Amino acid sequence: MSKFSDLTRLPDARGHFGPYGGRFVSETLSFALDDLEKTYMRLRDDPDFQAEFDYDLAHYVGRPSPLYHAERWSKKLGGARIWLKREDLNHTGAHKVNNTLGQVMLARRLGKTRIIAETGAGMHGVATATIAALFGLECIVFMGAKDIERQAPNVARMRMLGSEVRTVTSGSATLKDAMNEALRDWVATVDDTFYVIGSVAGPHPYPAMVKEFQKVIGQETERQMMEKTGRLPDLLIACVGGGSNAMGLFAQFLHQPGVKMRGVEAAGEGLESGRHSATISAGQVGVLHGSKSYLLQDAAGQIEEAHSISAGLDYPGVGPEHSHLHDIGRVEYVSITDAEAVDATFQLSRLEGILPALESAHAIADAMRVAPALPPEHTIVVNLSGRGDKDLDTLLKAAPERFQNPAKTGDGKEGA
Ligand SMILES: *Cc1c(COP(=O)(O)O)cnc(C)c1O
Repeated sequence: MSKFSDLTRLPDARGHFGPYGGRFVSETLSFALDDLEKTYMRLRDDPDFQAEFDYDLAHYVGRPSPLYHAERWSKKLGGARIWLKREDLNHTGAHKVNNTLGQVMLARRLGKTRIIAETGAGMHGVATATIAALFGLECIVFMGAKDIERQAPNVARMRMLGSEVRTVTSGSATLKDAMNEALRDWVATVDDTFYVIGSVAGPHPYPAMVKEFQKVIGQETERQMMEKTGRLPDLLIACVGGGSNAMGLFAQFLHQPGVKMRGVEAAGEGLESGRHSATISAGQVGVLHGSKSYLLQDAAGQIEEAHSISAGLDYPGVGPEHSHLHDIGRVEYVSITDAEAVDATFQLSRLEGILPALESAHAIADAMRVAPALPPEHTIVVNLSGRGDKDLDTLLKAAPERFQNPAKTGDGKEGA
C-alpha cells in the first residue's frame, strides 16, 4: 500500500482533512449542517438519486465531456503529450454546473423551496441561477456592490434566468462580504432555504460534498485515458481558486502514487506585489467561510482582498483538502502570473482553435512550463475548466496589441 492509500477516505467524521476543514459556525447553522450531512450521506449511496444526477449530467450538462489530445500544441512544446479535459464544453461553459446541479437536487430532496448563493465574478451565481430555473425554485444571489459594477453581463444573465441579485454594500463590497451576507441570511431562513456553495470550501460537509459532485471529471478522465493510452496519466494539472475543478479531477487518482498532480494558483501581478490570489503559496492558516485552511490575511488576521486577472480565481481562501494535500506533499502547488495566463490563452487559441477561460489558462501556462522537459512517452491531462468567451473584454483591455490582423507575407499571401 502506498502512503497515499488513505487519502480517498478523507474527510474524517467531523469534516477534517488533517488539521484543516471542520465547522466553524453558530449553533443554528450547526444543526442545519447536521441535517444536510445526514441527507447527503444517505443520498450519496441512493441509486435513484445517483441515476437522476447522471441523467441530468448526460442530457442537460452534456457529459461525458471529451478528453482531447492536443497534438499540435504538444508537438510545438516538445516533450510530454498533453490531453485537455474539456469542461468548457459543458452547458454554461464550465465545470461549476456539475456541482450546482448536485446541490440543488439535494435541496429538493430536503424539501427546501428557496436557494441562496454568493458570487464574486458571477460565474457561480449564473450556474446556480441556471439550475434554480431548471427546477423552478426561488433563487437569491448575494453579490458585492463593487462586483455588480465590474460584472454587469453576469448580473444580467442571472436576472434573465429569473434570479434576484442582492447587492451587498458592507465591508469592501466584494466576495468575502457577499459570503458573510449569505451566511447571515441562512441563519435566519434555514428552515426553507438551501445555501449552494460554489467550491470545495465552506463548513463540513460542503468540501466533501462538492468534491463528490465534481468527481465525475476524474472518473471520466480515468476511463478515457485507459481507452486512449491504455494506462493512467503521469501528471494532472488544474487551476485552483477554491479548488473544485482541481479536486474533481484529482480525487479519482489520489491513492495512485504514479499520478503526479499540480495545482496552479493565480500569482496575479506577482507574489511579491501583494496583488495575487496564491492562497497556499503565500497565505497563512486561519478560519474563513466556516472552515480552517490557508487564506490571505494581514498581520491582524483581517481577510485581504485577492487579485487575479481571472475573476474565478479571485478568492482569498482555498478548500481545506488542498491545504492538507499541500502539507503532506501529495500535490505540488505553484503559481502563474496574469501575464503568463494571457500569453497561454493566445497560444492555445492559435494552436488548437480553443479559447480557454483565463482561469484555465493558468493550468495551460503551467503545462507549457513543465511539458518540454518531460519525455515523449509521458502524458499530461490539463483540466480545461471553462471557455474563454466571457473574458474577451478583459483580454481586449489587457492586451489590445494582440488583436491585430495576422501579418501578411511579402507576396501578399497570408503568412503560414
Ligand atoms: C470558478 C472557476 C474556477 C475556479 O474555481 P475552482 O473551485 O477552483 O474550480 C476555475 N475555472 C473556471 C472556468 C471557473 O469558472
